[in-house]
Amino acid sequence: MNSYQSSDSLGDILIVDDEPNNLRVLSTILSDRGYDPRGVLSGPMALKAAKAALPDLILLDIMMPDLDGYEVCQKFKADTNTCEIPIIFISAKDQGMDKVKAFAAGGVDYITKPFQFEEVLARIENHLNLRKLQQELAQQNLLLQTEIGHRKAAEQALQQQNERLQQEICDRQSAEAALQKANQELARSNSELEQFASIASHDLLSPISTISGYAQLLKMCYSKSFDEKSTEYIDSMIQGCDRMQTLINDLLAYSRLGREKNPFVPIDCQKIFTEACQNLSSQLRYNQATVTPKDLPTVIGDRSQLLQLFQNLIGNAIKYRGENTPIVQVTAALENNAYLFAVKDNGIGIEPENFQKVFQMFKRLHGHSQYPGTGIGLAICQKIVENHGGRIWVESECDRGSTFYFTLPCPSIVNN
Ligand code: ADP
Repeated sequence: MNSYQSSDSLGDILIVDDEPNNLRVLSTILSDRGYDPRGVLSGPMALKAAKAALPDLILLDIMMPDLDGYEVCQKFKADTNTCEIPIIFISAKDQGMDKVKAFAAGGVDYITKPFQFEEVLARIENHLNLRKLQQELAQQNLLLQTEIGHRKAAEQALQQQNERLQQEICDRQSAEAALQKANQELARSNSELEQFASIASHDLLSPISTISGYAQLLKMCYSKSFDEKSTEYIDSMIQGCDRMQTLINDLLAYSRLGREKNPFVPIDCQKIFTEACQNLSSQLRYNQATVTPKDLPTVIGDRSQLLQLFQNLIGNAIKYRGENTPIVQVTAALENNAYLFAVKDNGIGIEPENFQKVFQMFKRLHGHSQYPGTGIGLAICQKIVENHGGRIWVESECDRGSTFYFTLPCPSIVNN
């Protein structure tokens, strides 16, 4: 809309007619009906008036001096500022060709003089409405174009992201494949190593037994002719052989864990505890140790492995005793859908920096003369617990005792 129009006006109408009477009559009627009419007497004046303020609609006479209505209309249509303004011709010319010419020049309608006021008003209203709808449509179109632009940009961004994701998936898949290959390779070399350790250990046992046997025979048959030194040498030989045999047996036990997989069955841990204590009975008696079980459940697992686990942990709890008579408690409780076992002793304890190291193969914190052993027992315990899907760790205070914790899955959860 333009500057001539009052705020509640129905529209700014530019009337172009060289007849002042016509101008007056039309202006009066249009004002009465709520429009803002402006009248000019010639084509050039009309062009000027429209330039000063764009009208919403133009009523244009055809026969005028200087420029006729067709020429004025063509000029309006040729100008990008005014080309969209609807132009209605009002003329006394009523030949078909006149109308054709008017439409060809760009007019939207044609009213023949003398006219009915109501007809003029109806046509003006009609074309103003049409123009308004066109403007709204153009506005909507613009919004739609912007929206399409945004969507296209979003689509493009999405596509780029998709491509990146595809690439990432490809990278991950190839990394996974490489990892799987490395894992297979590792499993193969582990199994080969275990097989080698097993064969080597097994083959070592026999010559050691021979040496140990002959050393004991020597001692038995010829001890009378031995002096003190020779007896000491022979004893060292026998002890060395014993240690070697224990070491090889422990190694064999460790390598067996990787190779032999028995089906898991329900195991009553109370019974396993009792059997472990029976196997350790001479050690328990010698140390006057008290070992008490509490709430030991039934779990799903490998019987011989669990027996070895209990035996190693209870055996260590007594072996690494302090000044006090050993008191060992073996308990279990259900925690986070798994059984948490604890083997608690009142022995010498372990420094915090060794909490993880003690589970390493051959890792020992004391000399053999102080506490005999091979450093394989806890590595075996760790492997057994991991075979059963659990975790093992230690908490300890020096000179106050240690507690070895391990978890085993709860049977109801394993079955589900
Ligand atoms: P080993 O007893 O044959 O030396 P282990 O693997 O069973 O081998 O134990 C590794 C080391 O952990 C032991 O040498 C010992 O120093 C320490 N250790 C194990 N159990 C206990 C315990 N209950 N109290 C204190 N130290 C322990």
